[in-house]
Amino acid sequence: YIVDLKKGNANILVGVRCRPLSTKEKQKQSVKSVKILDEKIIILQDVSAAKPEEAFRLARPKEKTYAFDYAFDEDCDQKYIFERTTKFLIDGIMQGYNASVFAYGSTGAGKTYTMLGTEENPGVMMNSIDELFVTIENYTAERDYKIKISYVEVYNENIKDLLNDRNDYLDLREDNLKGICVAGVTEIMTTNVDEIMRYIRQGNRQRTKERTDANEASSRSHAVLQITVEHKDKAHGINAEINIAKLSLIDLAGSERAANTNNRGIRLVEGANINKSLLALGNCINALCEQTKMGPIAAKNQHIPYRDSKLTRLLKDSLGGNCRTVMIANISPAFSAYEDTLNTLKYADRAKQI
Ligand code: ADP
Ligand code: MG
Repeated sequence: YIVDLKKGNANILVGVRCRPLSTKEKQKQSVKSVKILDEKIIILQDVSAAKPEEAFRLARPKEKTYAFDYAFDEDCDQKYIFERTTKFLIDGIMQGYNASVFAYGSTGAGKTYTMLGTEENPGVMMNSIDELFVTIENYTAERDYKIKISYVEVYNENIKDLLNDRNDYLDLREDNLKGICVAGVTEIMTTNVDEIMRYIRQGNRQRTKERTDANEASSRSHAVLQITVEHKDKAHGINAEINIAKLSLIDLAGSERAANTNNRGIRLVEGANINKSLLALGNCINALCEQTKMGPIAAKNQHIPYRDSKLTRLLKDSLGGNCRTVMIANISPAFSAYEDTLNTLKYADRAKQI
């Protein structure tokens, strides 16, 4: 996948990942409503027409076809997903361009599996860290590298550190050199990947701790892993300029509350229960896509509403501009999840640049 940074494009790549049927879905003998036709094309069928009592109303199942940069079926493993969606970002990070990868989808669709994964099948987070360590090895002769990792949660428009158990909320700062940063956030600086993953897994458990309804809480919180890569050229000694780039990996809140994307695309209808940050992210991505379509001159005046939520303020310097953005939309193949799947596909469809 080749991205031309010079064009000033929003650089958005969209992939849809369909997980296998879960044990629960199998027990309920769920019918599949998703078909992955090839590497890019996905078909969603309203199989309700297959029910005998409805068969007379619909001659055959309704079908909707969508095309994305990638359509991943259940056989695509964690490494494959990483290689297609995130590995190509590492190059840009090494050159100083920020990038972000979002896992979108309703609760249970596979966002955390995609980003964090299991110990046996680690996801995008661990694969990215691994790849970065391998990549910087190639430069050790000419550059000094420092990699710092932070992991925070955006919950109810508050930012909390997932790498320590203090319960206070953290503020955002804008730093000339580092860009947007979370003041006082814990940063891991070890080069031991296993140790880093232990911290991250522990942090992920922190996401739901001390809350009455654990599931509810985790489905409403955004987990943001930021990997900051700093380097200095050795040749310039102590006067060397510091070059900084950030890779942000985000396990988003469940999209079910932002449901009903209908004709409005990703400009969602604001409602009592809709997650403000998820809504604002949709609006920013939508505006970035429009900016791309406008051409470079008109695009300069396009307003991107970063300030509308904590998540978009936190990621302001990692979305748009010269940054590359990847959206991995996660879906279940089960017909019982049809509405959520349809909404996710519509959201992903609007995030495309084409
Ligand atoms: P979410 O974070 O979107 O709520 P999870 O990532 O927790 O959803 O996934 C729900 C369940 O499905 C978990 O038990 C997870 O291990 C499993 N799962 C998700 N995606 C896959 C996949 N691609 N392959 C195998 N199991 C998966
Ligand atoms: Mg999850």
